[in-house]
Amino acid sequence: MKDYIVRAAAKDGSVRAFCAVTTNLVNEAQKIHSLYPVASAALGRLLTASAMMGAMLKSEDDLLTLQITGNGPIGRVLATADCHSNVKGYVGNPAVDLPKNAQGKLDVGGAVGTDGFLTVIRDFGLKEPYVGKVPLVSGEIGDDLTSYFAVSEQIPSVVGLGVLVDVDISIKAAGGFIVQVMPEATDETITKLEENVKKITSVTKMLEDNMTPEDILKCALDGIDFDITDTLDTKYYCNCSRERVEKALVSVGKDELEDIIKNDKKAEIKCHFCDKVYNFDENDLKILLNKAKK
Ligand SMILES: [Zn+2]
Repeated sequence: MKDYIVRAAAKDGSVRAFCAVTTNLVNEAQKIHSLYPVASAALGRLLTASAMMGAMLKSEDDLLTLQITGNGPIGRVLATADCHSNVKGYVGNPAVDLPKNAQGKLDVGGAVGTDGFLTVIRDFGLKEPYVGKVPLVSGEIGDDLTSYFAVSEQIPSVVGLGVLVDVDISIKAAGGFIVQVMPEATDETITKLEENVKKITSVTKMLEDNMTPEDILKCALDGIDFDITDTLDTKYYCNCSRERVEKALVSVGKDELEDIIKNDKKAEIKCHFCDKVYNFDENDLKILLNKAKK
């Protein structure tokens, strides 16, 4: 199955929902970063959320960044998305290895840690991006995003995210859903949603049963009159280029560049998101030095 997102809305506008299958893009992330299973689960969940939240962006230049900084061994977990749900991300420590948790599942909460923050940066191309920051609830990422939507955006939401890692450490299935309740929702609708959510035991299980995003939304929105309004593609995509890396080098300033030229005579810059390496020799660096500010 290819990766895609479906967007749905209740006919009366009281609920909106997103559901994504992201197996391929999480597999891509696993290969690029050589992620251990629990790191695949953590980054895969965050990439899946960013893909769906990318679909909430309105215009071409909008960018979304989700960042989790907890006190666990995985370090920073970061994912970004544009409005076409092109996503990319990385983790601080891809080789994090932990025993399964009490439920026999990959211990994402243990890897992330519970002491820390989820930061959501929405850049609409204005001077200042919109930044929302909430303390982590469990480090399991779904709960933390639910808290972000409630606290920072005042939108009651249910977020379910799942990554199923195969025995050969490739990704067997990945996906998730976000269901959001709008202010005009009636108590009856809210009660229905709560009942539905109780019945959904695990996203991973639904994916393992080969349920499509449409099937998953049928469960989550059971009893609610809704339409699927959109189907969107999503993929792992890094837009880095030599030109962008040059700009970044210029922005570090003259002093720093002079130091690099004096001490190393070259620079090797690796993209955090796709591991592509950009090499600059002494001559390249001198050209950049001329463009840099003191
Ligand atoms: Zn890159």
